[in-house]
Amino acid sequence: MSSGRPRVGTFKKVTSLANPLVKDIRALHQKKRRDDTRLFIAEGQKLVRDAAEFGWPIHTLAYAATLAGDPAIGALAAETKAGGGTVLEVSAPVLEKITRRDNPQSVVGVFRQRFAPETDVGRDGIWVALDRVRDPGNLGTIVRTADAAGLAGVALVGACCDPFALEAVRATMGSVFHVPLAQLSEDTLVAAARRHGARLVGTHLIADAIDYRKADYRPPLILLMGNEQQGLTDTLSAASDQLVRIPMRGKADSLNLAVSTGLMIYEALREC
Ligand code: SAM
Repeated sequence: MSSGRPRVGTFKKVTSLANPLVKDIRALHQKKRRDDTRLFIAEGQKLVRDAAEFGWPIHTLAYAATLAGDPAIGALAAETKAGGGTVLEVSAPVLEKITRRDNPQSVVGVFRQRFAPETDVGRDGIWVALDRVRDPGNLGTIVRTADAAGLAGVALVGACCDPFALEAVRATMGSVFHVPLAQLSEDTLVAAARRHGARLVGTHLIADAIDYRKADYRPPLILLMGNEQQGLTDTLSAASDQLVRIPMRGKADSLNLAVSTGLMIYEALREC
């Protein structure tokens, strides 16, 4: 699949698992292929329709042949073709191959990836910055929570997992289409925060971090969340205006990253 539109307004019925267009979509499960094409897969009729309504042109639409004649699918297909995209009416085995799932969703969309400019991070509102997040389920859950809370965006700092991996996209439940995502280094993040006068609140498990209910969360604000194994880097800890800790009463060493991010976001919102 080339990164440009393959054919203007193409429609095809596909039953062969060996069809090159099927192989092209399936290849988007690989990070290298996503990086090369800047495309990604999202599943589900509602999600694909919502994405299109929210201004994300559908690059390729694949739907189960059993939906042929459905007016809602007809409208999606017409919109895809009008935008120069490709529409594939496919058999159940082809959908299973594309999604690598038994009982797959009956609609799959391919979209072009988007990242917000680094300079947007910390400009206003509340951003969450994830330091080297590794788990796509955590990342997707955090993007979904950021969407629900109406945050300005999610910044991916350093070597993070891919927000456009299918597992991450699934976990966002559609929020990947609503929340600005930015990628930047820790030095660039700190520079952006300083330039915008944004407060950096870092989360840390050290004993002298203050109780998270006592921090100053006035925006512009960036909440810094650490890597699942190693926590926050020394550079980001040192750059933080405040280091905070969510008290734990039991014997667990730490909270899950997505859970602690949710707690931090909603605590910060109490001040806004
Ligand atoms: N072994 C790591 C450490 O010592 O930092 C544990 C990292 S924890 C699983 C991953 C991230 O979740 C942390 O860097 C922090 O951002 C957040 N986190 C987890 N528990 C937290 C807590 N009690 N208070 C504040 N943040 C927490």
